[in-house]
Amino acid sequence: MSYDYDAPASARLFDRAQLVTPGGVNSPVRAFRGVGGTPRFMVSGKGAYLTDADGREYVDLVCSWGPMILGHAHPAVLEAAGAALAHGTSFGTPSEGEVALAEEITARIAPVEQVRLVSSGTEATMSAIRLARGYTGRSKVVKFAGCYHGHVDALLAAAGSGLATLALPDTPGVTGTQTGDTIVLPYNDLDAVRAAFAEHGGEIACVITEAAAGNMGVVPPLPGFNAGLRELCHTHGALYISDEVMTGFRTSREGWFGIDGVVPDLMTFGKVMGGGFPTAAFGGRAEVMAQLAPNGPVYQAGTLSGNPVATAAGLATLRHCTPEVYTHLEATAKTIASLASEALAREGVAHRVQFAGTMFSIFFTDAEVVDYATAKTQDTDRFKAFFHAMLAHGVYLPPSAFEAWFVSAAHDDAAVARIADALPAAARAAAAHS
Ligand code: PLP
Repeated sequence: MSYDYDAPASARLFDRAQLVTPGGVNSPVRAFRGVGGTPRFMVSGKGAYLTDADGREYVDLVCSWGPMILGHAHPAVLEAAGAALAHGTSFGTPSEGEVALAEEITARIAPVEQVRLVSSGTEATMSAIRLARGYTGRSKVVKFAGCYHGHVDALLAAAGSGLATLALPDTPGVTGTQTGDTIVLPYNDLDAVRAAFAEHGGEIACVITEAAAGNMGVVPPLPGFNAGLRELCHTHGALYISDEVMTGFRTSREGWFGIDGVVPDLMTFGKVMGGGFPTAAFGGRAEVMAQLAPNGPVYQAGTLSGNPVATAAGLATLRHCTPEVYTHLEATAKTIASLASEALAREGVAHRVQFAGTMFSIFFTDAEVVDYATAKTQDTDRFKAFFHAMLAHGVYLPPSAFEAWFVSAAHDDAAVARIADALPAAARAAAAHS
């Protein structure tokens, strides 16, 4: 199938990019390998919309993969970042913005008594695992197939996100030694976790899980799964790490913790809390966090950690994430998902909508998706046809069947109406692609 409708300016930029950057992109999923065609180079964002280099406008259902919860170029975020910018961009010393952001996070999320700021979700999970190993004196880490925790060497085993899209089972460059202490289990399978603890109990430092999986498409934990993980960890002296980089401050005001209430030992955050800037965090019980340098022996650091412009934007974003924003996100996500589902059903396209709070995705399969194996039963060719028809009609979906769809506070009735207009042709394109 050919997807070469007009995007000449993006195509020219992509040609230039591929000469100087591997694959023409700085993060693999942006390259459209999962759907084919030319990635759109965006030049601006405002509210629910992105504009590409050819001047075409799209309703954005990616929201920078989660962070832009208030919409693009939100006035309060621009103002906060601009005010911070005017005072200088980085000091390499403590500054008040870091304290205020940490206070905001600890005030919202009760299990997080202390927090350390870092610059990406990857750094957050990498550091949380180092801390868990340092705290317990153990080496093994349990993770779940299809869960993505950033490109941490030890966690690039059966990861979702770009690895699902590109169908890479693992990645060269990560050695057996680096993943040798990683135990990969099927998501939502407590029996598998019990068996792993029975065999390796005294060696397991932590279990890390996405609070609700969003990197193989949206797969919420089955009732009792997260609580069971916590209980098994505690029985066996391991730490329970809940990765809320995607779900944090998005699925609810308190993230997924606000929905299931399961108290982790450590949590990781990113995306929304940076307001579109590179800021992330990990945190948890003060007694565990006390092991971090300079108080404790576990080393962790960062030149740009707690950057004043990023923390100002993050704080402004969190402060504007009011209860009304979450009510709006939930209603809008439900409306868009129902419209898409109705359009696909009308054309007889097998699909399944799954939610985790305000996050959702549509799987092109009618099987219930509970883990990575069931996520992979979907018909990705139908998704490609659907994706390109939506793109041609001005709706920017995640360019992969294995990613969550994100809405923002700025997705209003007009944006939803544009999506509704695009859907019938996209559903027909999906149906035609067999
Ligand atoms: N953890 C989860 C659950 C994520 O979804 C991601 C990124 O998508 C990460 C960690 C890594 O974050 P970053 O891309 O900021 O390194």
